[in-house]
Amino acid sequence: MRTRVMKRTLVALMACTALSLSAQEQKQYPEQETMRPGMSEYWTPQPKIVTPGDPVTHSAPSDAIVLFDGKDLSAWQNTKGEAAGWDVHDGIMTVNKKAGDIMTKESFGSFQLHIEWCVPEMDAQFTSQSRGNSGVYLQNMYEIQILDNYNNETYVNGQAGSIYKQTPPLANAMRKPGEWNVYDIIYTAPVFKADGTYLYRPRVTVIQNGIVLQNNTEILGTTEYIGFPKVKVHGDGPILLQSHGDPSPGISFRNIWIRRM
Ligand code: MG
Repeated sequence: MRTRVMKRTLVALMACTALSLSAQEQKQYPEQETMRPGMSEYWTPQPKIVTPGDPVTHSAPSDAIVLFDGKDLSAWQNTKGEAAGWDVHDGIMTVNKKAGDIMTKESFGSFQLHIEWCVPEMDAQFTSQSRGNSGVYLQNMYEIQILDNYNNETYVNGQAGSIYKQTPPLANAMRKPGEWNVYDIIYTAPVFKADGTYLYRPRVTVIQNGIVLQNNTEILGTTEYIGFPKVKVHGDGPILLQSHGDPSPGISFRNIWIRRM
């Protein structure tokens, strides 16, 4: 008796489900539109037109700010805001150790920087950090090391293309002393929280002579010779070139340009 009741209930339930399914099937919904190529393409805004520089001389593209074209140091000053005292000759500028560091008059946020540098031949007695030591400071805070690491080992987070005292380069791409090296540096400025810590750390890509040394590497904080990186709130800042206290004479630069991003 009980089994018969259960069977009847089950049959009734199945009938109801079939009815509701058939009502749904009869309702008309719009069909999924067929995807066409143009549905995932957009045309505006168009990227601005930039005329590239010469591929051989690496001259500045049309929208770059030229920081040194071989003629004068008008884009530079010393750290006291006075005239930059480095020597300009033969289309290059050479570090004057007595004049100290120099930095751009203009400040920058995120950028693409092109800079060429050459370290002199040094006597073999000079080793490690004492061969062709200089550096490019991003926003006057974070040093990308310049050093003669051609057959010259040093602590790896202090060699050419390192984020100094932080991250070693992925390769040693040095040309011989007396030959020109090229750095292309792509830098993303940090964003700070209200409490003074990083919301987004600064990041940098460094390419030396066409070889990637830093691949969008996070910068941990300020460059400290003694101690560990610090987090200091800052805004836009200049590019600073280091006049290091090592004995290297004649560290030189040429063809420096920058593009804001
Ligand atoms: Mg240095």
